[in-house]
Amino acid sequence: MNSINLSAIRKLYGTTTAVDGIDLLIEPGELFFLLGPSGCGKTTLLRMIAGFIEPTGGSIHFDDRNVTATPPNRRNTGMVFQSYALWPHMTVADNVAYGLVLRKIPAADRQSQVMRALDMVQMGEYAQRKPNELSGGQQQRVALARALVVEPGVLLLDEPLSNLDAKLRLEMRTEIRRICKESGITTVYVTHDQDEALSMADRVAVLRHGKAVQVGDPRSLYRQPQTRFVAEFLGETNFLSAEVVGESAAGVELQTSVGKLVAAKGQDGAPSHGSVTCSIRPEALQACDASDDCAIVGEIESHIFLGDQAQYQLRLPDGSVLRTLQLNPSHPAVGSLAVKARPEDVVILRD
Ligand code: ADP
Repeated sequence: MNSINLSAIRKLYGTTTAVDGIDLLIEPGELFFLLGPSGCGKTTLLRMIAGFIEPTGGSIHFDDRNVTATPPNRRNTGMVFQSYALWPHMTVADNVAYGLVLRKIPAADRQSQVMRALDMVQMGEYAQRKPNELSGGQQQRVALARALVVEPGVLLLDEPLSNLDAKLRLEMRTEIRRICKESGITTVYVTHDQDEALSMADRVAVLRHGKAVQVGDPRSLYRQPQTRFVAEFLGETNFLSAEVVGESAAGVELQTSVGKLVAAKGQDGAPSHGSVTCSIRPEALQACDASDDCAIVGEIESHIFLGDQAQYQLRLPDGSVLRTLQLNPSHPAVGSLAVKARPEDVVILRD
């Protein structure tokens, strides 16, 4: 397993900047996600790491080895494509053995390596089938085995679950994470699906317009987004405009047109004065007493009972809407509701 060090990596296509100067250090054994909307540059970045696309500028190192100009077959990477790209006329075992044949591994050694890779993805008993005799999820497992069999230093996955139905996608999330962690291979995984990234990744780089706008573990990205874009991309949230009015022992005091907020101090890159935008997740706004100093009171506009939770949409006195998810859903369905957030859940955005 290798570390991957990307330094000022860029790719231009004519006048289009696909990747715009990305610096990233991916640790050995890490399951690292490139996440962003369509067209943000994630596939181009993955393909530069694989060696299929030559960067316009910058460098790529695997450990201390500069691989920027190394051809793909000399980088010791394994790649899994969206389409699986299995040979239809070959058995599962022959598909998996293909990379070993190219590397001139003797036939006697090949079989045990193929079976080890198939066992890792729990497909040992399907070794003699053809790809068209397998389900989509099974084909995906074979594609993974084929990438793993050559014991790559780096595994690259390009939207590997996008051709599966919703139920299989959920199952394969757990499976792919297990396989990556058991094999200990440094893995870079491209997706536009934030749930996939949040539920599987050790760390995630959120990409936008060819730049890595925030890098962190799933929890910190979700709970401390630095920008409106990241806050919105990673889940539902409320944006509130506020003025910073001072600091107290409790935190940064903020005034909005619908009440007072207190945000945790020391938020990375947050402006310390003037007008700001805050992001507060629906589940962070829990019911409180209307007389609470930080209560935001709204009229219940809609209410959806979900068993152990309830979604409320509140209309605030300034006309704006606040969405909250009550974890104790024993509140009224009509009338008004007062909610407040803990300071650590009031996130002051950079922009
Ligand atoms: P993503 O994988 O995030 O959807 P891509 O890396 O495929 O994004 O593309 C990033 C940008 O580069 C897009 O604007 C896309 O249109 C452009 N692009 C990608 N490949 C090419 C190419 N071969 N020629 C010209 N433009 C390209």
